[in-house]
Amino acid sequence: MSSGPDSEYDVIVVGGGINGLTAAIYLQKSGLQVACFERKLEAGSGCCTEEVMHPGVKVNLCACNMVTLWSPAYADLELEKFGLEMLTSGEWGMFHPFKDRSAVMFNSFNARKQYEHWKSINEHDAEVFKTAYNIMAPMMGDTVMSQFFTPPTTGAKEAVQAGGLASMMNAIFPEIPENAHELSGIELAECLYQDEKIKTAVLANCIMTGSHPWERGSATLMPVVFPVLQSTHSATWTCRGGSHALVHALCSCFAAHGGRLFTGCPVEKFIMQGDAVQGVALSRHAVFPEAEIRAREAVISNLSCHPTFKQMVGEEKLPDWVKEGVDAYKNDETVLFTNYWVLDRPPRWEGYPDELNNAYGFNFGMESVADIRRLARNLERDELPDPPIVSGLSVQGFALADPSQAPEGQYTVMAWSNVPYKLPELGGSEKWDQIRESYGDKVDALLREYNPGMMDSVIARYCNTPLDYYRKNPSMVEGSTTSGATSWRWHGTSRPFEGCGAPRSPFPGLYLSNSIWPFGTSNLGSGYVAAEVLAKDLGLRDKQDWWCAKPMDAGIEVLRRRGIELEFNLA
Ligand SMILES: Cc1cc2nc3c(=O)[nH]c(=O)nc-3n(C[C@H](O)[C@H](O)[C@H](O)COP(=O)(O)OP(=O)(O)OC[C@H]3O[C@@H](n4cnc5c(N)ncnc54)[C@H](O)[C@@H]3O)c2cc1C
Repeated sequence: MSSGPDSEYDVIVVGGGINGLTAAIYLQKSGLQVACFERKLEAGSGCCTEEVMHPGVKVNLCACNMVTLWSPAYADLELEKFGLEMLTSGEWGMFHPFKDRSAVMFNSFNARKQYEHWKSINEHDAEVFKTAYNIMAPMMGDTVMSQFFTPPTTGAKEAVQAGGLASMMNAIFPEIPENAHELSGIELAECLYQDEKIKTAVLANCIMTGSHPWERGSATLMPVVFPVLQSTHSATWTCRGGSHALVHALCSCFAAHGGRLFTGCPVEKFIMQGDAVQGVALSRHAVFPEAEIRAREAVISNLSCHPTFKQMVGEEKLPDWVKEGVDAYKNDETVLFTNYWVLDRPPRWEGYPDELNNAYGFNFGMESVADIRRLARNLERDELPDPPIVSGLSVQGFALADPSQAPEGQYTVMAWSNVPYKLPELGGSEKWDQIRESYGDKVDALLREYNPGMMDSVIARYCNTPLDYYRKNPSMVEGSTTSGATSWRWHGTSRPFEGCGAPRSPFPGLYLSNSIWPFGTSNLGSGYVAAEVLAKDLGLRDKQDWWCAKPMDAGIEVLRRRGIELEFNLA
């Protein structure tokens, strides 16, 4: 920030979120001159760690389940060299406690232990896991590549609709009917698994991944895929120093390659010539007020669908078909309410299996599939679940994995309840300010039913509503955790709307790294895909020898260095 921006760059990225930064670095490293303009004084709003409670308590407000080890960017961009270190608390990444003090657990690295654990609950369901694991685990890297790091293709959605994957599933699992593609995730789980607790725990985890098991389409297969994905190291990691350490690694990397990041620089509008996007105009509140910066090749918007098209392009410039697509885009599909607690002793699960004490995360408040159906009904009607349902993930592993995230002798636990944004019964979304603490109390009371000892050790609490998220980051419209809808209607090439061609857009010179497929997560997929397509369009992609890492390999390598070897076949 020693000097203002130049008048021109090859590529301008609007929004310094982790995906905008990822796209910016890939392109800068490919030889382009790239500048990124971020509204806030600190980049990476969706991956923030802030001391909002008391000094030394690091609160990871957005991304908590860091899936960066899936990403080719981890190795391509040498993020470890720029300070990123991934940590986790224990091999049992996730668990689902029940009020009778039993739990269904998910192992992150050891599929054999996963199989044995499920076998102790239900032999049939353990065999289902083993069969699915043996088929899917060896091809997990390719699957993740095609789903998260490859631009979506027309035809993939039609293949699922026509039952392609379902008939393959039916050939493997006789329990799954031939019309599996017409089932919801819940219906599929009901066919496939016998044990009610396993069904409930698996479905809760599907919700956690942003896949709604009451829907059809891609959500249908998630109950089979999730346990396999979880056992291949995929999730339940934090970064040393908190989630925001990823942002710092990306910023350092960008700067090291000569990229320019300008913080405190909200973009007001795209500069347009006809329907072509040629640059950006900063807001009058920017550090460089009303500066106009041109892009020689392209502008990438790292803002979600509504701000990109309604504000940056301008509603008046949208052709009817684009306006219809943008207006129809649903923001509030996956919305979370946060409780963050500080404990004065390590979390302990008295009366439950010992493994829970060191596990990273959990979901709670669902005793059977009926509770999952209750959540679906509540969300469909914009009603607040009461009692709450905490299926967005809870994390107890931050300070267990990384003591730097809390003062000595203190520990943090976080819980995400699934909620609607709009609150029509209470008079609208602004009512979130009034019910913040009372809804937080309901989550406290619910967790007390599972773990009274943990709640007795709470010394401070902080609650964050979806409205708070929206206020902090106007690109997180209605508090959406996934920058808008991810369900079947908006899957693949249909995101953010049919005909958009994302990550390209209907406006020449404009590319998108947000509200596209894949949806933005800490696996950095949407930034990767935006960079991939733009680099191809500019004829640069084939010349980058360094741009070659494969998804999932980083995690396998990190585990290997820690003496853990993943097993891909449970003979
Ligand atoms: C409650 C919650 C929980 C989540 N949990 C997880 C999780 O556990 N794991 C996970 O992987 N992901 C999680 N996510 C998603 C996570 O936030 C995304 O992975 C990540 O933030 C997406 O990054 P992005 O770059 O796509 O978008 P963003 O982080 O939203 O980046 C957009 C950037 O644009 C900036 N901006 C906004 N307006 C302007 C403007 N006018 N001009 C310039 N800049 C502007 C914003 O400040 C922001 O920095 C969660 C999100 C939420 C809200």
